[in-house]
Amino acid sequence: MLRNDQLDQWDREAFLHPSTHLARHARGEAPNRVIRTASGVHIEDRDGNRFLDAFAGLYCVNVGYGRPEIAEAIAAQARELAYYHAYVGHGTEASITLAKMILDRAPANMSKVYFGLGGSDANETNVKFVWYYNNVLGRPQKKKIISRWRGYHGSGLMTGSLTGLELFHKAFDLPLAPVIHTEAPYYFRRPRLEMSEAEFTAHCAAELEALIAREGAETIAAFWAEPVLGTGGIVPPPAGYWEAIQAVLRRHDILLVLDEVVTGFGRLGSMFGADHYGIEADIITIAKGLTSAYAPLSGSIVSERVWKVLEQGTDAMGPIGHGWTYSAHPIGAAAGVANLRLIDSLGLVANAREVGAHFRAAMAAALADHPHVGEVRGEGMLCAVEFVEDRATRRFFDPERKVGAAVAAALLEQDRVIARAMPQGDILGFAPPLCLTRPEAETIAAATARAVRAVLG
Ligand code: PLP
Repeated sequence: MLRNDQLDQWDREAFLHPSTHLARHARGEAPNRVIRTASGVHIEDRDGNRFLDAFAGLYCVNVGYGRPEIAEAIAAQARELAYYHAYVGHGTEASITLAKMILDRAPANMSKVYFGLGGSDANETNVKFVWYYNNVLGRPQKKKIISRWRGYHGSGLMTGSLTGLELFHKAFDLPLAPVIHTEAPYYFRRPRLEMSEAEFTAHCAAELEALIAREGAETIAAFWAEPVLGTGGIVPPPAGYWEAIQAVLRRHDILLVLDEVVTGFGRLGSMFGADHYGIEADIITIAKGLTSAYAPLSGSIVSERVWKVLEQGTDAMGPIGHGWTYSAHPIGAAAGVANLRLIDSLGLVANAREVGAHFRAAMAAALADHPHVGEVRGEGMLCAVEFVEDRATRRFFDPERKVGAAVAAALLEQDRVIARAMPQGDILGFAPPLCLTRPEAETIAAATARAVRAVLG
């Protein structure tokens, strides 16, 4: 193929990128990279530079890049039927089959699957389901939603509000009024260093209980949470957290919407985070790993409890006024079917558990003694390294120094390994494809240790 030498200029002139310093990009002051191809855990840019993608795109290419089984399923679907809508009872073989396959894998209390396009719109749908639910039940005042500081649930209006990260609120007039935030289950950042993990769990549950008491349980519809905090820092919950939180929610008749956009379909080494932590959700949000990002598709898995009320609502009021042109798009659904089959046939859930544990152990062995590494943590095929200025007192670096971003840049430059500098704190995040091998895990750990030494000594 002829190389287009104008591509760089067109990129600066024409393309408004998401999550980017727009001005610096347009002026050519920030690097841009044009990705051309990818295979397994590696991506390649158009200059022929090859990178080990230890974040699986945006923790989504779970089966790895370049799988012909999914590419062929997409091509076959496009030839046979590129599109038909799903309104008024229409479906396609792919969308119906995928709904069934998801339910076969989901926790036992789940009943139906609604399809969207991405994680943000799936959470937006879920907000509407939760409000509709309480309207049908005749409690129109029960509408507020509690999410956690450092939670990430998307960047739409409601979903950006649910997200508890400053970057996603700043200058967008968010969060919107019905959303309130509670304590992040982030033990490393506990308010007092001497707190035990059990004390911190009790503190999180007490904070939630106090917030509910202040607002009035009769005004609160749902609690929104990821099983493991993702973009907020890749933080597994403290021991006993989910048990304690669910007890509070049950006591106040508050729905639990579990955002499994990152954790669904194997990333924690279990099919769902719900199974992994013994969480009984009322609605589960899925996206990313549903198609391994080979095509855009998301979903809302609703429990029998919620389904019964939706059913009652349409019996009383007629068809539900919700849906998009591309809901349950057949190409996304075909990608999803092929992807879930591949996850099973390659044993990727077990691989995430086993190689993920090896990966974290290798990272801890390479870094845990470094004076500026405060913590190496993770679960399944998720890992994070958090940096501190002083370990004994847990003093953090001045954010202006951007230590996390500097380590990510060194890792990329020295060893061509892609990790993600998480947006709030000096935290280096890893979420490789679930097909990562042990030698690849060791390569990433060794390269990370070199990058940390290059930046922090
Ligand atoms: N929920 C979680 C837990 C996520 O991590 C993300 C994206 O990273 C989203 C929702 C939003 O998904 P999307 O970017 O597809 O809209």
